[in-house]
This record gives sequence, structure tokens and C-alpha cells, in this order.
Amino acid sequence: STTSRSTSASTARSDALIEHARTVTPGGVNSPVRAFRAVGGTPRFIASAQGPWLTDVDGNRYVDLICSWGPMILGHRHPDVLAAVTAAADKGFSFGTPSENEVALATEIVGRIEPVEQVRLVSSGTEATMSALRLARGATGRSKVVKFAGCYHGHVDALLASAGSGLATFALPDSAGVPASSAGETIVLPYNDVAAVEAAFAEHGDEIACVITEASPGNMGVVPPAPGFTQALRRITREHGALLISDEVMTGFRCSAAGWFGLEGVVPDLFTFGKVMGGGFPAAAFGGRADLMAQLSPDGPVYQAGTLSGNPVATAAGLATLQACTPEVYSHLDQVAHTIADAAHDALSAAGVAHTIQWAGSMFSVFFREGEVRSYDDAQAQDTAAFGRFFNSMLDQGVHLPPSAFEAWFVSASHDDEAVEAVLAALPAAARAASG
Ligand code: PLP
Repeated sequence: STTSRSTSASTARSDALIEHARTVTPGGVNSPVRAFRAVGGTPRFIASAQGPWLTDVDGNRYVDLICSWGPMILGHRHPDVLAAVTAAADKGFSFGTPSENEVALATEIVGRIEPVEQVRLVSSGTEATMSALRLARGATGRSKVVKFAGCYHGHVDALLASAGSGLATFALPDSAGVPASSAGETIVLPYNDVAAVEAAFAEHGDEIACVITEASPGNMGVVPPAPGFTQALRRITREHGALLISDEVMTGFRCSAAGWFGLEGVVPDLFTFGKVMGGGFPAAAFGGRADLMAQLSPDGPVYQAGTLSGNPVATAAGLATLQACTPEVYSHLDQVAHTIADAAHDALSAAGVAHTIQWAGSMFSVFFREGEVRSYDDAQAQDTAAFGRFFNSMLDQGVHLPPSAFEAWFVSASHDDEAVEAVLAALPAAARAASG
């Protein structure tokens, strides 16, 4: 019909591609959230991107509020990064030997975050947390790990467990294929609950290798640590000889030049990084105290390796990205995020839609419920159907949000007035759609 907002004609190529993709790839996608199962409709196949804009295979343009789930902090095809990547690729794609770019990237990270004395580069956030966990277990000679419900650390067997939020619940595997023996070493606790951490350590303190936590969680929506929570984790782990791992894959180099650590300042034993530090390429890292890092192969007994680790093109992209992340970039992110969040609040209020907006630096998310969200249980108690209607209205109006109610909205240095205006213009109708 001539009045429909989104016609099948306008997504014809994406429709055809997802249909074919499903025949050659499970669900048609290489990462499940991309399939749009939580929001319905056709995932858009993106053909190209520039600055804050995505263009799909049917020629539709969208303001990008996914930013590749964090890495594209400068926007797409930033000229400095493009030049660095092109120059690096021109010299070779992968050597399997040491190369200079990886030293430069490691030096940049170590220079930014004081407690990080050494880093080891890997290719994904998942690899970073998996390796940090192995290092913590190797260094302590203990096997149990504590994680928090609602925190995502990649698809590491031991960290996919998140069932149960009761005190010291020994988790059941959250995914088929994770052996109970692996999940059984994981203690899942409610986030922001110091008493639960105290209780778990009172019972199992001498068996716990580490506590791993998102520095400021962003994978259940943005749920910052309550004042004192991270400090309590530091104190309790130290009292029991366990390590504290701060997962800054999402927050690193985004919440500030030194990530969440730059804002809160609690010193963990190990950090994990990814996303921004790869500038859109597969580069990630784990790092921390030199005496701990010395436990890694070839210096120490904890094995860890990678064919493409420290890849010269990926490290060039990461280094150029970090170097372009100036103080002006961080203040721009802050301003754009607040402009969009304020407008979302106004539009949802005007439409009578229950919502709460939470922040970690300039990282924010909108929960479709009233009241503060401090834990995964709180986050789950939101109106995901309302989010689905909101999401689809935004998409139809040319704004691509993350297709899940449990995600941060990512902005970039390239989000200019035109892009922000396009978001603001779409919000009122989307809020009305959300109200049902
Ligand atoms: N840790 C956190 C906090 C993340 O947000 C993610 C990804 O979203 C990961 C780890 C896993 O990173 P990757 O997807 O690169 O494996």
C-alpha cells in the first residue's frame, strides 16, 4: 500500500539474502542477536557505512546507534584509521612473527591505564576473558570463578553459566554443550549484592581463583556498580587471595580515555579489553600486573597463543583509533549521548511509556520500566514487547538501534547534527508505537 511505513519492496534484497543465508548458516547469521529474533522483522544487510550512517543492500540509510556494538567509536571509515589500515595491508596481512604494530598498540594501552603493566594481544573479547580466567586459575592454583548474573564475558564455557541468582548458586549450564563440570566451577551471584559475595567467599573462599565482573555492566542494559560495590569486590578478593578481573571489553576506551577504570579508579589484578581497541578489526587484549603476566607462556606455565594474535592490520586500526580518541572526542560522545537520551526521555514521557535511562560515562541504555535497575532481575522486569515496537518504528524511520532491549545505545564521534536531528525526529512516533 502507498501508506505503509515500511514496504517489503524496500527490504527486498535483505529479505532475499536472509532467506538464502538461512540455508548456508544457522539462523542466517554469524552472531545470534543479528537475527532480530527479539524484535521481529528482517535483519538489514548492510552494504556500506560512512561516519554515523549505514546503507543497506536496498539503498536504505540509517543512523547507526549500534556502532558495531562498540568498536566504531569514531564512526565508520574514519580517515586516519582508513589510512593506517590501508598502509598496513599494503605491507602484508599476517606474518606469524613479531611485528612493530603490536608493540605500538601494547605501548598505547599500557600508557593509558596505569595498573596495566603488560598486555597480551588476542583476537576477540571472548579470547581475552577465556585467557584471563586461565591465567587466574594458573596463578592461584584454584578452579572456581565468581561471575555476576547479567554480565556477559563472551561465549566462554565457564562464563556462559548464569542460571540462578540465589546465594552461591552453583550454576547450571546456560547453553547446551557446556559440561556441568565446567559450569559447576562457576558461582553466579546477583550484581550489586555485596552480601552475596561475602557469603560465597565465606563458604568457598579458598577455592575461588577469581571474581570476573564487567567494569560497569552493559550487557543487561547499562547497570553501573552501586557506590562501593567494586571496592568491596577488591577488598573481599584480596582478603581471600583471589584475583579480581575487570572486563572492560565494552567500557574500555569508551567511558573515558582509560575506560571505566579512569572514572572509578579501583585497581583489579587483570583487565580484559576488546571492541574500541581493535577499531573494527579483530583485536582484543588482557593485561595487568607484570608478575601475573609473567605466568604466561613462554615465560611461565600458563599456555596461551594465537595464529592471528597481534595481526598487523588489526593492530594498526586499533592504534589509529586510540590515537584519534582525543578529549574532544570524549566530550562529543557525552554531548551526543545526552542529547539523544534527553529526547528519548521526553518522547517516552509524552507517550506515557514507562522507562528508565541509566549511564556509565557516556554509555547509556533505555530500560522499558520504571525505577532503578541494579541487577539482572531488575533488567528482566521490563516491557520487551514495547521495546520491539519502539525499535521497529525507529528502524522504519531510518534509525538502527541495537535489536535488543538489553543493550547500550552506542554513539560515535561522527554523530553530527544531521544524524542527531534524524534520531530526534524519529523518537516521538517510536514512543507512540511503544505505548501500543
Ligand atoms: N566482554 C564484554 C563485556 C563484552 O561486552 C563482550 C562482547 O559483547 C565480550 C566480552 C566478548 O567479546 P567478543 O564478542 O569480541 O568475543
